[in-house]
Amino acid sequence: MKKEFVVIGLGRFGGSIVRELIEQDADVMAIDKDSERVDEFASIATQAIVADTTDEAVLKSLGIRNFEHVIVAIGENIQASILTTLMLKDIGVKEITVKAQNDYHAKVLSKIGADHVVHPERDMGIRIAHNMLSNNVLDYLELSDEHSIMEIRANEKLAGYTLIQLDIRAKYGINIVAIKREGDIIVSPQADMQILLGDILIIIGSDADINRFEKKVL
Ligand code: ADP
Repeated sequence: MKKEFVVIGLGRFGGSIVRELIEQDADVMAIDKDSERVDEFASIATQAIVADTTDEAVLKSLGIRNFEHVIVAIGENIQASILTTLMLKDIGVKEITVKAQNDYHAKVLSKIGADHVVHPERDMGIRIAHNMLSNNVLDYLELSDEHSIMEIRANEKLAGYTLIQLDIRAKYGINIVAIKREGDIIVSPQADMQILLGDILIIIGSDADINRFEKKVL
């Protein structure tokens, strides 16, 4: 059976989620209060509906409760985003993901029970900044306020050495959780594994430790 999603707000962010879900063969009910936006998605989404989701009666009449996962991608209008999330929670939607505009908005969303809060602009900004600092940083993902996962390309300072020789855990407090090599992924690599130039290392640690490692090694 196909997975079924609802996307509310068809701006750049919500719109790209709709396109990708459809591309990945899911069913998507796409909603926006702006009829021009909805027209754009009429031939893309499974259903495209003009509705103001801050109206509880409207949400109920659309049967949104029956969908597995709803994403609220309402941008600028923080009040509408909060109100919509609150009502989705009230009608018993199982999984709700909401795009936050800022940290204050994110806090409110978590408090009222959003299951996932995403900050696409902020997160992409952080990723791009790390990639600008070093071309060897490929990706950066915040796990919490203090911990992150980073994907790095092994350079000359790392290649040719085994994990035990590098001793990154003792020196920097960082763990290498996996190595990507030529399409394969080696999970929990052994201490005697040798790193090759171009290997992609997935490392995990505190932000302070990762920063130290980034400055010294990358
Ligand atoms: P982005 O930064 O992703 O482009 P926008 O702010 O441009 O975000 O898009 C948000 C979309 O959410 C707009 O198309 C807007 O019409 C829609 N929207 C805003 N408020 C509501 C609401 N109460 N109900 C439904 N859609 C809404």
